[in-house]
Amino acid sequence: MNQEHDKPEEQWTIADAERVYGVSSWGGGYFEIGENGNVHVIPEPRLNDVRIDMKAVIDEIREENIQFPVVVRFHDVLRSQVVTLNETFAEVIKEASYQGNYRGVYPIKVNQMREVVEEIVDAGKPYHYGLEAGSKPELLAVLAYNTNEDALTILNGYKDEEFLKLALLGRKLGRKVVVVIEKFSELIMLIKVSKKLGISPIIGLRAKMQSKGQGRWQGSSGERAKFGLSVSEIIKSSRLLEKEGMADTLKLLHFHIGSQLPEIRAIKDAVNESARIYAELVKMGFALEYVDVGGGLGIDYDGSQSTADSSRNYSVKEYVADVVYGLREVCDLEGVPHPHIVTESGRAITAHHSCVITEVVGEIKPDGAQVDTTASEKDHILLKNIRDLSENLNGELNFQEVYNDATQYKEQASAAFKLRVIGLEELGKIETLYWQIMRKVQHFYRNASFVPEEVQSLDFSLSSQYLCNFSIFQSAVDSWAIDQILPVVPITNLHTRPVNNGSLVDITCDSDGKIDKFVIEQAIDNVIPMPDYSADEPFYLGLFLTGAYQDVMGDMHNLFGRLNEVHIFSYDDDPQDFYIEEFVKGSSVEHVLSVMQYHPSSMAIDIKKQIDKEVSAGNIKPREGVKWTDFYEQCLAGYTYLNTDD
Ligand SMILES: *Cc1c(COP(=O)(O)O)cnc(C)c1O
Repeated sequence: MNQEHDKPEEQWTIADAERVYGVSSWGGGYFEIGENGNVHVIPEPRLNDVRIDMKAVIDEIREENIQFPVVVRFHDVLRSQVVTLNETFAEVIKEASYQGNYRGVYPIKVNQMREVVEEIVDAGKPYHYGLEAGSKPELLAVLAYNTNEDALTILNGYKDEEFLKLALLGRKLGRKVVVVIEKFSELIMLIKVSKKLGISPIIGLRAKMQSKGQGRWQGSSGERAKFGLSVSEIIKSSRLLEKEGMADTLKLLHFHIGSQLPEIRAIKDAVNESARIYAELVKMGFALEYVDVGGGLGIDYDGSQSTADSSRNYSVKEYVADVVYGLREVCDLEGVPHPHIVTESGRAITAHHSCVITEVVGEIKPDGAQVDTTASEKDHILLKNIRDLSENLNGELNFQEVYNDATQYKEQASAAFKLRVIGLEELGKIETLYWQIMRKVQHFYRNASFVPEEVQSLDFSLSSQYLCNFSIFQSAVDSWAIDQILPVVPITNLHTRPVNNGSLVDITCDSDGKIDKFVIEQAIDNVIPMPDYSADEPFYLGLFLTGAYQDVMGDMHNLFGRLNEVHIFSYDDDPQDFYIEEFVKGSSVEHVLSVMQYHPSSMAIDIKKQIDKEVSAGNIKPREGVKWTDFYEQCLAGYTYLNTDD
């Protein structure tokens, strides 16, 4: 494992760091390792060669006294992704002489932060890029933010009457609001409400697809999919609209076969299937104008360009070409007009724009504490045996046997302790000797061509655990819930050879609060190589590609709540090439407690009363009492994460 960076004779270069951490493989052109060994951000790769040094960003965050962990948002990256998707469609549409336009929408469930939605709407304005909502609260938001009359507002998800009324309000305001029917009963309700209010809707039908997406979300398609209409329901729906004199309101055919599609084949199949349904409906006399191919455009989180769940085997350009040419081919064969194309890409738009920066606040080593193991007369035979083994290690020995013997002594010692044969001190000495032996076994096999299986797992047992000031449940929930790989990279010191390997643990009390899957040298490894750093200086790790879903799905595990955020814009005239436009404070302790129905102000009063009582009883001096009361209140108002300032 990672043996190359153990070779002392070769000089370590930035190219080595790049090979180990794969920044340019998953970075999408937005990240690189600079010559100074720091991670750099390239906010607008298509436009200029501005580089933002993440270390400079961290320094400024510290100067502003903003506590870590912090979410850093690069607004230029967000804009660049919107432009890239729209420009790619425009290019391919032109090249294919496709007759329709591209009218994409951003599904806000992927990241509902107001600043994110505003930036996407603004960047998408020249392209009439719209928004998608999947629930009533989201609909309320998109009605307020998607004010461009030429951009679509697409409504998915299950709907009640209030939802449909809000959609019709959007129509009254002159917006292109499309109600996508997921269930036949919604259509009956929509016809009723729109007739009652005298407002004509724009209707879409969501087709349940036979084409299945692979990957983790394949349940979104097929006959048992939660959403969408079967072929017979599509026919029934269109006939009903005809009968009600509303045939002209049916404008869009929609499908969504799942998020993070790793396989381009699935997209081609689904586009083909939807184009056939579209063409048939047009030939039945319905003047459909749009085909909406949903989301699914993947992100190459692990940089492997493969069909692994955390990757994708296609580029944005290929995806776009498959959609455009796929639709064109079927439409030309069927002799129907080319529809306008809608996509609902969320992940692809937002994943790159934000990252989480956390500090390493401690290192946990299995052999971190060593006790004195000097021999004494009364030592138990088990202790004597393992000491003999450790004192007589030399290159002539069979290290597999050494490993087996030491492991056996340790197991026997643990049993002997439970049987009250040896005491705690002796057990401690045996543990110390055991780890000393294991280090030597590991060292012996370091450059061996064959390493026994048990010994391979030693690398992991002997590796450090880096304690990081964040909660995986808040900031990287998919890495816990669905084993999503997210890139992790030390922000600085990458110009120096890594000196240690370790996995990451967060500050929650949950043993699941850890990251032990990393992409290192293009393979999955359970430890990440760490450069040398001084224990006196804070050391920062970046958790990248957290902009889609991770940012907004975090939970209240251990009551940590939302992170502090900084919003960054690039600015060529600035000496550092960027400025912090906004600082959004994360959750206070008070806030997360009140979400859980506590009453922080009365808690503070209760504590004050108890302190006052102790003051009256003479157990606490009055001045001290005031200080303790202030301290409690100050903690309530403060940040939920570890305070590393003092
Ligand atoms: C979640 C969802 C999307 C977003 O999918 P991505 O893969 O993130 O682009 C789009 N459309 C619908 C209907 C969804 O449910």
